Amino acid sequence: MEKWSLGVFASIDAGLGVNLDVAHELGVPTIQLHAPKKETRTQENADKFLARLADLGITITAVFGGFEGESYADIPTTARTVGLVPPETRAARTTEMKEIADFARMLGVDVAALHLGFVPHDKDDPLYKAAVDVTRDVCDHCADNDQALHLETGQETGEALLEFIGDVERDNLFINFDPANMILYGSGEPIEALKLVGRYVRSVHCKDGTWAEKPGEEWGAEVALGEGDVGMEAYLRTLEEIGYTGPLTIEREIAQDPERQKAEIGGALKLLGELKAKLS
Ligand code: MG
Repeated sequence: MEKWSLGVFASIDAGLGVNLDVAHELGVPTIQLHAPKKETRTQENADKFLARLADLGITITAVFGGFEGESYADIPTTARTVGLVPPETRAARTTEMKEIADFARMLGVDVAALHLGFVPHDKDDPLYKAAVDVTRDVCDHCADNDQALHLETGQETGEALLEFIGDVERDNLFINFDPANMILYGSGEPIEALKLVGRYVRSVHCKDGTWAEKPGEEWGAEVALGEGDVGMEAYLRTLEEIGYTGPLTIEREIAQDPERQKAEIGGALKLLGELKAKLS
């Protein structure tokens, strides 16, 4: 694959990201796929989907897990409902995450990814140990599939994420770096964090956002790429610096406004194309 191949976060049913048809209309060569619903995750559907992607000339670079009941309404709701950390849903979601990794395998994809959820900052919190254990469990399942597991960044500072990865002790655990999330969640300056965790970064989101008045307590605002506080040129320069050559996957979650979503992703593709040309 070409260096910094452009891509978009997409889904084939009503999941996050843009519909596959929109990805095609925008002319992107790669997507990260938000896992489709359980009943559709069959080899037959995988084969059909792969045939369609081959027609469209699109390659899947990662399959993202997501679960029913997750809500990103505000920071406390996100902490309570997202990922494998919340105890009430952990067992069922862990099973489902392994099934999603198996579906990624059916699609020939070597990367499964997810929002793990809010890992407690206090290592003595029993939830911390539980988060380490469940991540090991999913990593080991992925390893059996010859896959890596990528953790979406955002909730943790770069330092905390490094500590966590060190504690999990699995060599197929990496990072899907999302610079906007660091700003939206108020977990630290993204460029500094990227330098810190760079050696683990194997996939990235190109997303932008602005800081909240009270970072960490309330959401920052997600905005069109280039209009937020990330600094896209600095972001790409830093990706260059850490030796990242993988895809640049645009994420824009405004499903309620598909016209604007498509237009802004188009704008993001243009911006990234210009920056790629400038930096190469
Ligand atoms: Mg993201």
